Amino acid sequence: MTTEPSFRQSVDLMFNRAVALMDLPPGLEEKIRVCNSTYVVRFGVRLRGEIQTFTGYRSVHSEHMEPVKGGIRYAPNVHQDEVEALAALMTFKCALVEAPFGGSKGGLCIDPRHYEEHELEQITRRFAYELIKRDLINPSQNVPAPDMGTGEREMAIMADQYARMNTTDINARACVTGKPPHAGGIQGRVEATGRGVQYALREFFRHPEDVKKAGLDGKLDGKRVIVQGLGNVGYHAALFLSTEDGSIITHVVERDGALHNAAGLDIALVRDWIAHHGGVRGCPHGTYIEEGSKVLEEECDILIPAALEGVINMNNADRVKARLIIEAANGPITAGADEVLRHKGVVIIPDLYANAGGVTVSYFEWVKNLSHIRFGRMQRRQEEARHELIVNELERLSRDKDLGWTLSPNFKEKYLRGADELELVRSGLDDTMRVAYQSMREVWHSRNDVTDLRTAGFLVSIGRVASSYKAKGL
Ligand code: NAD
Repeated sequence: MTTEPSFRQSVDLMFNRAVALMDLPPGLEEKIRVCNSTYVVRFGVRLRGEIQTFTGYRSVHSEHMEPVKGGIRYAPNVHQDEVEALAALMTFKCALVEAPFGGSKGGLCIDPRHYEEHELEQITRRFAYELIKRDLINPSQNVPAPDMGTGEREMAIMADQYARMNTTDINARACVTGKPPHAGGIQGRVEATGRGVQYALREFFRHPEDVKKAGLDGKLDGKRVIVQGLGNVGYHAALFLSTEDGSIITHVVERDGALHNAAGLDIALVRDWIAHHGGVRGCPHGTYIEEGSKVLEEECDILIPAALEGVINMNNADRVKARLIIEAANGPITAGADEVLRHKGVVIIPDLYANAGGVTVSYFEWVKNLSHIRFGRMQRRQEEARHELIVNELERLSRDKDLGWTLSPNFKEKYLRGADELELVRSGLDDTMRVAYQSMREVWHSRNDVTDLRTAGFLVSIGRVASSYKAKGL
């Protein structure tokens, strides 16, 4: 076994690699690197006739912009180092996709699978209470979102707890994002991170030069893909890539092993199986492989780690055969493995960009909550009416001038329909992912001293955070 730096040290090493290529004053460099604060809370909840004590964290990495933003994770092994690493990544992620937030992250040491729904509500309410009373959940200061082990239900409970404790705050709903649509959420948030991974890959494949660097060619169609983690992020990414882009998901790796099907797994069926059986073992849609982690070393075109950090490390990096890895999870490749893979010529689309779809749509949700109106509500019918004018005019011209024009089938129906909230969210997300990729790519291609997308991404982000601090006079 090779010893590796911790997750936090790994992020620092990646940061240092980029910052060494910049010309920042050392004091500012240090200010951007450090995590501003970490709040640790231990609280008790009476469950099953006894008091159980839980430990939770909320780290704020950078307040160069407020509110700060970042998910809350429920996992048994959450610890300070991990939460601080994730908070730092949030700072750079937000800067890269131009979401106007500083970076934060939270976690609770708990295995949510061991608790009933009503118990999880009690625990979540109590954790939220502890954070709210210290303004660590607050629409203008700190806005959490879902992460591993949490989802719409937990976000709705946190928002409700905030509203109970701040009855006169008209913007209460903007205190967390990732809420269900009926409780102040936005269409497309659940799919957002996976959808962002799809948009990131589509943008990558729009640049043949970049595709060639990975030793690949063509488009996403027919590419063989391995996905680790069929949770919120992995499921949506795999589903969209296979059903909309023609990619073939040859392997899905889960906690209890992996599934293989060379012709492509039916992702919706596999997900359904996991939901009913708690894992992939026994699933009739593919061949079961007991040693899941070994599957990361299988032949494929694209590897999508979408579960947890550190899965590609010094112990397996040299055996990874994928030519392109997109980090749907946060920190799946350690700093040491990153170096090994770079030397092998593997192209890595880094986490700070690849999984930024979640925070991007969270940003849209926060704006929606603050504006108190759903996107598209004012324009949709007016847009339809204007389109109808053009279509009617074309039809009149064809008729009156006897031109014999006929519109293609479905054109009228498609063109006349104004965009609803989901379409607007996807459009905003697509634009964000394209622009952010292009900003990284420009640095990647224009500087001889930048040989990878991660360093390029960090350079763009650190530059933006530095400008923001400088503008504040720091
Ligand atoms: P999730 O809890 O919905 O899913 C995680 C999945 O990984 C589960 O299916 C779980 O069974 C599986 N898993 C856990 N341990 C595993 C192991 N050892 N091997 C294989 N599979 C394993 O979590 P998520 O929200 O999809 O988050 C996944 C990753 O994406 C995390 O790194 C998270 O920080 C990151 N992320 C999530 C979001 C979001 O919007 N949810 C946004 C940005 C980044």
